[in-house]
Amino acid sequence: MGLESSRIAFERARRSVGAGVGSGLRAAMQPHPLFVSEARGAHVWDLDGDRYIDYVMAWGPLVLGHSDPRIMDAVLDVAGRMQIVGTGHVLEYAAAEAVLESVPHGERLLWSNTGTEAVQIALRLARAATGRRRVVKFAKSYHGWHDTVYAGLSDTDCGEVAAPASRGQSPSVLDDLVVARFNDVEMIERILAEAAERDIAAVLVDPIMSNAGVEAPSQDFLQTLRSRCDQHGVVLIYDEVIAGFRIARGGAAELFGVRPDLSVFGKAMAGGFTQSAVVGRADLIDQVTDGVVHAGTFNGNPVALAAVKATMEVLADPAVYQTLESVSAQFEVAIGGLLASGPRAARLQRVGSLLQFVPDLEATSLHGTGGLWSQILGGMLASGVMFMPSGKIFLSTAHRQADIDTTADALEKVLRQL
Ligand code: PMP
Repeated sequence: MGLESSRIAFERARRSVGAGVGSGLRAAMQPHPLFVSEARGAHVWDLDGDRYIDYVMAWGPLVLGHSDPRIMDAVLDVAGRMQIVGTGHVLEYAAAEAVLESVPHGERLLWSNTGTEAVQIALRLARAATGRRRVVKFAKSYHGWHDTVYAGLSDTDCGEVAAPASRGQSPSVLDDLVVARFNDVEMIERILAEAAERDIAAVLVDPIMSNAGVEAPSQDFLQTLRSRCDQHGVVLIYDEVIAGFRIARGGAAELFGVRPDLSVFGKAMAGGFTQSAVVGRADLIDQVTDGVVHAGTFNGNPVALAAVKATMEVLADPAVYQTLESVSAQFEVAIGGLLASGPRAARLQRVGSLLQFVPDLEATSLHGTGGLWSQILGGMLASGVMFMPSGKIFLSTAHRQADIDTTADALEKVLRQL
């Protein structure tokens, strides 16, 4: 693959766009971001027309791959008639009904645009309902880039004072965070036993630590969260921005059998378009008719909601999740096997169609993973396979055995050269 056209495009982008990328971490792509001119199914084409197998899947949303015709037809149909109207339209409730039907605890929802926004709304609802201020999150988990939650991102960052993860953040809002450890039942029990005294309104948890190693929750852990939140009057919020509609149609509540009060969805919900939602208990959501402000010019726009509705209709077929599971399991066996026997052993963590490269004896973090990943990343891109800098790997229903075989062949060569 000649990456020269992308290198030149990146240089030009840096002259007009801050850091040359639309979202900060994309700049970590080795040796530089790929510039794409077309994307279909499991593949993208660069500016020279070279084809790459895509395991980035736009950082998660594309459970059905790029340009699925069922989603595109629905979007093109509505886009020709209206784009954004700032008043009622039928898709607002038709798409909402389709989402609520999929989610076990879905009684009502609020539309917003990004996961970051929806997390903030969920926290506002929890604070309004409890009259309390603080939120428990778990070390290393990412919930968007907003000042109030972009903290507590390292392994050791556990306890009462959350460390900010960006320059320029307001330190005062971090007093609202308490950082616990994922899957540590004893720790969360201790914290929640003092929920009233500590002013804790909500527990915010990504049930599979999507951005921090991909770890399934122990049954005990989620059940403890549920029972202790009930006991101590705390709102339980699942951040399912990555996991939602990817690990199961009904998300973590369906897969693990423990229901939260609210879930935040984004990414996969709109099949590649921009839309997010807070979904859950009607009494919490209905606070928006009683003084809780929720707003946004682009919330619930017809184009995105046509995509949400079409996506929900496709995902209602159980065969989608069977395909996702089998293709992901095949990938795990083929690629995981090569990594285990590579020059510095590594393995894949997997929950459904989300996988994570984890080097033996090393931890992963939001910003990346160690071991040989950055060399593998560069070598694979040059061989026509695109992975994420963080070592997260997204599969879709569009990936085929032939893609996995090609990936395995390329990886074998790359590992041999390291
Ligand atoms: N929560 C989780 C678990 C996420 O992975 C992300 C994005 N990667 C967000 C929230 C924020 O979503 P967005 O990028 O749409 O603001």
